[in-house]
Amino acid sequence: MTARIQEFLRTRREDGPCVVVDLDVVRDNYEAFARSLPDTRVFYAVKANPDPAILRLLASLGSCFDTASVAEIEMALAAGATADRLSFGNTIKKERDVETAYMLGVRLFAVDCQAEVEKIARAAPGSRVFCRILCDGAGAEWPLSRKFGCDPDMATDVLEHAHRLGLEAYGVSFHVGSQQGNVDAWDQALASSSAIFRECAERGMHLSMVNLGGGFPTRYLKPVPGVENYGDAIYRGLVKHFGNHMPETIIEPGRGMVGNAGIIEAEVVLISKKSEEDDVRWVYLDIGKFGGLAETMDEAIRYPIRTRHDGADMAPCVLAGPTCDSADVMYEKTPYLLPVTLEIGDKVLIEGTGAYTTTYSAVAFNGFPPLRSYTI
Ligand SMILES: *Cc1c(COP(=O)(O)O)cnc(C)c1O
Repeated sequence: MTARIQEFLRTRREDGPCVVVDLDVVRDNYEAFARSLPDTRVFYAVKANPDPAILRLLASLGSCFDTASVAEIEMALAAGATADRLSFGNTIKKERDVETAYMLGVRLFAVDCQAEVEKIARAAPGSRVFCRILCDGAGAEWPLSRKFGCDPDMATDVLEHAHRLGLEAYGVSFHVGSQQGNVDAWDQALASSSAIFRECAERGMHLSMVNLGGGFPTRYLKPVPGVENYGDAIYRGLVKHFGNHMPETIIEPGRGMVGNAGIIEAEVVLISKKSEEDDVRWVYLDIGKFGGLAETMDEAIRYPIRTRHDGADMAPCVLAGPTCDSADVMYEKTPYLLPVTLEIGDKVLIEGTGAYTTTYSAVAFNGFPPLRSYTI
């Protein structure tokens, strides 16, 4: 909690939950990434939090942007980034969206199969493409599974197809899984990347770039390694697998750039028990899975929660949202400890909520409005 956010919430008059993002923290995070990975360009993953003030700040600091749709490209351009600082990093794109991106000046695209290469060759001729490879996501609290990327054995063929169709086979990308707690998680993917560089060279293609993706964690309940530890481990991995032939590198931090910059203020709507002898209370907030806390799905992300009773005795609670959907329960398998003196009407502060909250908040489930957002 920063003093600026505290002051903002003290004077806020509107009702209902909101997230407040402190732009000074975003600036510190950007500078920490730039310092810890000095030869790497930063492409902020816009989906983590596309608030215009965040995009404007990062654009002014020199950040590039990883975008996944035409709307995100337009937001980054509106924030002051030029098209040469954008990548269209989604591997699943409509051909007409590739064409629009190309018209807007974007020349860097992600692919993970030949059909996607063909769309780019038709709609964005001559552009640079990088091939995303699968990564198992071990060690991540929010793994990205098998949806994106191809087997490393297939990547050389995909890149060769691009090369034959007049595109520039530019490099390789991967994502080690979001909220990655293991600083060495990049090593295996760097080994695969360097093997792809070698195979491509044997076929006459000289790749330039390794896109190291996101995955840098933010602090929730458990401590996480600092960004400088990730920088050191990644640098060691690059030296180990690329030696004297260092590629150009980029990172795409989302959570690590904005997560700790935001706080949600919410309110306790009801505290109840399911039977007289139950010792676990049910605590219902005015925000839940559909109002911005979707990453509590499977109880994956456990946010720190503060109340005015901090320091009092704690007891286990089931924590749930306000909608009439029974899936709208955030923590039940592992109950959440909250002060025994917590009361209906109390405000709670949910920390580390700058990333993946506004973008996940539904339009109006049950008439609850989407999460309001302020930047200060
Ligand atoms: C979501 C996403 C990111 C950001 O991941 P974090 O774990 O939030 O840093 C980076 N790259 C791509 C391609 C993404 O889809």
